[in-house]
Amino acid sequence: MASKPYDLDTLAVRAGQERSQFGEHAEALYLTSSFVFDSAAQAAARFSGAEEGNVYSRFSNPTVSIFQERLAALEGAQGCIATASGMSAIFSTVMALLKAGDHIIASRGIFGATQQLFGNIFARFGVETSFVETTNVDAYRAALQPNTKLVFIETPSNPLTEVVDIAAVAAVAHQGGALLAVDNCFCTPILQRPLELGADLVIHSATKYLDGQGRVLSGAICGAKALTDEVFKFLRTAGPTLSPFNAWVLLKGLETLKIRMEAQSASALELARRLEAHPKVARVFYPGLASHPQHALAMRQQKSGGAIVSFEVEGAREEAWRVVDSCRLLSITANLGDTKTTITHPASTTHGRISAEARAAAGIGEGLLRIAVGLESVDDIEADLKNGLG
Ligand SMILES: *Cc1c(COP(=O)(O)O)cnc(C)c1O
Repeated sequence: MASKPYDLDTLAVRAGQERSQFGEHAEALYLTSSFVFDSAAQAAARFSGAEEGNVYSRFSNPTVSIFQERLAALEGAQGCIATASGMSAIFSTVMALLKAGDHIIASRGIFGATQQLFGNIFARFGVETSFVETTNVDAYRAALQPNTKLVFIETPSNPLTEVVDIAAVAAVAHQGGALLAVDNCFCTPILQRPLELGADLVIHSATKYLDGQGRVLSGAICGAKALTDEVFKFLRTAGPTLSPFNAWVLLKGLETLKIRMEAQSASALELARRLEAHPKVARVFYPGLASHPQHALAMRQQKSGGAIVSFEVEGAREEAWRVVDSCRLLSITANLGDTKTTITHPASTTHGRISAEARAAAGIGEGLLRIAVGLESVDDIEADLKNGLG
């Protein structure tokens, strides 16, 4: 400190900066690309890793670090690495932990872009993927090869809410010397903690419930530090890092995650029950309903059924589109995990680029609609859907 007190103008810029090392009440947004060093020697020590500290925001940033620590704590993980999107979390995990000649087993019911990434992009670099029946544990065992390094599942799946037995698939993966990664997007750690069930890695599209208000793209990988350290090495070099601003938005989102998940899940269960009783609805897919094929497993593995309800209208695309187009309240968008309820026709949007045969094999029919239930009243959501259901 200078001996003369700082001028007021200087204080207006600088005061409190000494306390900005996490003494602030709200988390600070460190919107900075790089960090300065006290000396050449410190710069060298930071770069070599001999001294811990921030260097450059492609490597680390305090606001991003707070998000990573908070999410790791929620998932019960030693380590967490944040990424620019959910897809870059999946991409970075495979790039960091696998090499040409390795093999992946993935469930058929994974997110459309993840299918494309595994089936088309990684295949070009010598990493082959076997896609197996989502809920059949024996199918995972039968697909094991000596070079299988990763088993990748998503549960509940999108859009059919199929539930995979995480503990059973973890046992199969470990028997084959492979890691199990679980995309925990639909449940979040509030409803399901895959690491406790034997998974090695939890992957998030934080774009969805972790933000919770449809604002930022983001992702994360959680797991043992030895694994997340490897992912970090890839990320700091390749660069699909989370921006500090988006991390700051996510921190605000995480503060309300628990009450949002509980409220939205409770509404989803109520909506699912009402839809199941509607004469124009052929079938409802919701893990919290007794009619769901994996209801018992879901209730063991999850705290509740989650906030995604899919249903098939009587008829095909025309009838399904009529429901979508009659909505005055629900948002027609492919996003999910928002406080605003969204409606999607998967066969013509999220799953539109998959071949018709593959779509039929996956059970995604033309009459299927997916509702990501938000915080509006169930009565209003139901009334909006009834406009088009008749
Ligand atoms: C949205 C989504 C992703 C991809 O996340 P982005 O943030 O859009 O890149 C991956 N998995 C699931 C289950 C998703 O819903």
